[in-house]
Amino acid sequence: MREFLNTGRIDPSKRLVVERTKDFNEIYEVFENHDAAQQSERCIQCGDPFCLNKCPLHNYIPQWLKSIAEKDLEFAFKLSNEPSPFPEVMGRVCPHDRLCEGDCTLNDGHGAITIGSVETFITEEGFKQGYKPEFPGVKSDKKVAIIGSGPAGLSAATYLLRSGFGVSMYERADKAGGLLTYGIPNFKLDKKVVERRVNLLVEAGMELHLECEVGKDITFEEIADKHDAIFLGIGATAAKSAGISGENAENVYMSMEYLTAIGRKNFSKSYDKKFDFKDLDVVVIGGGDTAMDCVRTAKREGAKSVTCLYRRDAHNMPGSQKEYKNAVEEGVDFVFFASPKEIIIQDNAQAVAVSMVKTVLGAKDESGRQRMEELKGSEFQIKADVVIMALGFDIDVPAFFAENGIETNSWGGVVVDENHQTSTSGIYAGGDCYRGADLVVTAAYDGREAARSIIKSFS
Ligand SMILES: Cc1cc2nc3c(=O)[nH]c(=O)nc-3n(C[C@H](O)[C@H](O)[C@H](O)COP(=O)(O)OP(=O)(O)OC[C@H]3O[C@@H](n4cnc5c(N)ncnc54)[C@H](O)[C@@H]3O)c2cc1C
Ligand code: SF4
Repeated sequence: MREFLNTGRIDPSKRLVVERTKDFNEIYEVFENHDAAQQSERCIQCGDPFCLNKCPLHNYIPQWLKSIAEKDLEFAFKLSNEPSPFPEVMGRVCPHDRLCEGDCTLNDGHGAITIGSVETFITEEGFKQGYKPEFPGVKSDKKVAIIGSGPAGLSAATYLLRSGFGVSMYERADKAGGLLTYGIPNFKLDKKVVERRVNLLVEAGMELHLECEVGKDITFEEIADKHDAIFLGIGATAAKSAGISGENAENVYMSMEYLTAIGRKNFSKSYDKKFDFKDLDVVVIGGGDTAMDCVRTAKREGAKSVTCLYRRDAHNMPGSQKEYKNAVEEGVDFVFFASPKEIIIQDNAQAVAVSMVKTVLGAKDESGRQRMEELKGSEFQIKADVVIMALGFDIDVPAFFAENGIETNSWGGVVVDENHQTSTSGIYAGGDCYRGADLVVTAAYDGREAARSIIKSFS
């Protein structure tokens, strides 16, 4: 251990831009044994590890780094898979620079340990060696319904099944995984990784009902009658609009319409061909992770040009800086300090350009973030064959919430107590439907904590 003076931070190898933009395969390689061990040996085993405290799951990071340095993969696998329902997913998609790696003591000059990549290595290599997370089989007479199969639902299912509870999961899509499946593109997260976890849960006894929307294909009351508790993990998938003229034009799309269509195409499923943007000038409005996923998807789909419009600058983008840099490498054009005013439509109801106004950063607001101010008379236009809006998400509150006394707050988020229980006894919630659009790791945390509360309520 403590090899940080002799060894620097190493990131996993990235595929060459010319190769990776030809397909949707993951762009980062998984660490080999040697790299994972070398990074782990750099850990200084802090007495009060900031990395662990900054990880929403409080993963046992220093402990599994030590195990890898000591070549004990089996123990590292067990340690990593205990507080985390799917470490190999978080290792790939967490914004590490803002979480564990951002708070690694070595980040102060020596370069943080590549924690996320070691985390992915442990579970991938563990699966290769034949290790498997353990489930006892369904032993309890208590049965919990989970509505929504995103990371919040999958995490809740994992911890309930580990305690021998019966679990039935209801998902309106044709595949489980929520945004892990139809959202985050394959080049960030291979869908086989998600399928493997879903299969493990089914093997462990979970009943999975796909293409089953609660409130439409089955009533909430029917589910409530058949189960002892319910976990709501329905996400926040209603796209926010810009509220500008022209955004209802036929060739203006919402980010999730586009990403879901291409996700379906990559599964060789039927999809609407209007989303084939080959040889088109694609303009994406927004600066978060979803916008980065859209621009990089359009690049892989053969768009003639891909331009991202954002009203602040690169430094102020809300998403991961790593994904912004990947998009730049892949040839996406960025126009910063530009706010959309109107989508210009021609006679045939098609958008042909986006009218923008230049912006500057002004005084700080109450949250400490600089306000954005528009510069009068600075309007300009950008040609577009297709416009994609990537401006964030709201919660689509289903009718069964009010019908069953499930309280929501002013923006539609489910209100929960410290046990993740909603205002209706026995109904729990977590993930984006409670936090608003957030992260995979926080959804996984909510699912875990809600499951623990459910288990406790029956003991
Ligand atoms: C394009 C994109 C990229 C992202 N990239 C990242 C990233 O790189 N890293 C990161 O940490 N986070 C990322 N996020 C955020 C992350 O994916 C979400 O925060 C997370 O998936 C939320 O999990 P969830 O389980 O709460 O909801 P979701 O993943 O949205 O899952 C909810 C599920 O509930 C189902 N459902 C809804 N209503 C019903 C109903 N009535 N009946 C049955 N099923 C229902 C939905 O079909 C869906 O499958 C990204 C988000 C998007 C949109
Ligand atoms: S779950 Fe995320 S924050 Fe926690 S250790 Fe893994 S990569 Fe870091």
